Amino acid sequence: MRHDATPAQVADIVQQIEQHGMKSHLSSGEERTVIGVIGTNPFQLKDLFVEAPGVAEVIPITKPYKLSNREFRPHDTHIRVGGVDVGSNQVWVVAGPCSIENAEMFLESARGVKAAGGHALRGGAFKPRTSPYSFQGLRHDGLSILKAVRAETGLPIVSEVLSEADLDAVADVADVIQIGARNMQNFSLLSEVGQLRRPVLLKRGMSSTIEEWLLSAEYILSQGNYDVILCERGIRTFEPYTRNTLDLNAVPLIRELSHLPVIVDPSHGTGRRSLVIAMALAAVASGAHGVIVEVHPHPEAALSDGAQSLTLDGFRTLMQQLRPVAEAVGRTLA
Ligand code: PEP
Ligand code: MN
Repeated sequence: MRHDATPAQVADIVQQIEQHGMKSHLSSGEERTVIGVIGTNPFQLKDLFVEAPGVAEVIPITKPYKLSNREFRPHDTHIRVGGVDVGSNQVWVVAGPCSIENAEMFLESARGVKAAGGHALRGGAFKPRTSPYSFQGLRHDGLSILKAVRAETGLPIVSEVLSEADLDAVADVADVIQIGARNMQNFSLLSEVGQLRRPVLLKRGMSSTIEEWLLSAEYILSQGNYDVILCERGIRTFEPYTRNTLDLNAVPLIRELSHLPVIVDPSHGTGRRSLVIAMALAAVASGAHGVIVEVHPHPEAALSDGAQSLTLDGFRTLMQQLRPVAEAVGRTLA
């Protein structure tokens, strides 16, 4: 829409779009309002609206992902989580154990994360394990622990949902709902979280292309939940010395293609504690809006992902080293 388009002109266009059986998505920026139109022939749209009052231009978005496309929203999306605007200049740091194992270790982790300056706490109650014989998480008991620790520390919670059946229970305690790599293409789950009005952390599938990942985000956005944070967590390659190959190309590329915030998980990205800090620093240097790292008070005794978990001391070191890197690339670490 033109800069001087009136609210009535915007409403009129929206109404006409809907009368033609198409879906509209409104993005009201400070400089201009953009109306996303889904499900149409772009040439027909041009004919209909190019001369309409208030319309500045009609731009067909040729990529298959529309609402996540930077052409739809030229400015970075900011998503408020606790005290941080994720997607802004502020670097967002999420830390905590892979799984919630018991109340004591989770509270000890949370206190350590908070004391070192972490902004949000991660921890899985429902764990997607490769083997059915591995620890599957404390499930609903884990959610109760999350709730108690959230109340005690005030830290916002990031936690994974594995199935639609558990979504309400997870959404009851999680400030940010994590969709894991293995569920990135669980399209019915994506549509369900799209119905919520709660930020979603969408991890990249371990064998997914960037376009497939953005199309998965599109499943959530197209349901009206625009608060999606993308998370690069490493992809499978031929290299066996690391668990995955952390694809940092994805960070500046996503920032070109999309307005959505993108963060990095160097823990799953490397699988090795000794590499986590270096890759977290590299992530922020490459333009990531934040990092999510696994931290455990006693990694040698962890029930999942101990080998890639930082100790609480290691996490303090990471926070100290992150600040000058963030500042060097024009970012802040609150
Ligand atoms: C996790 O965050 O513990 C996890 C299972 O991650 P991913 O889905 O990236 O493997
Ligand atoms: Mn893990």
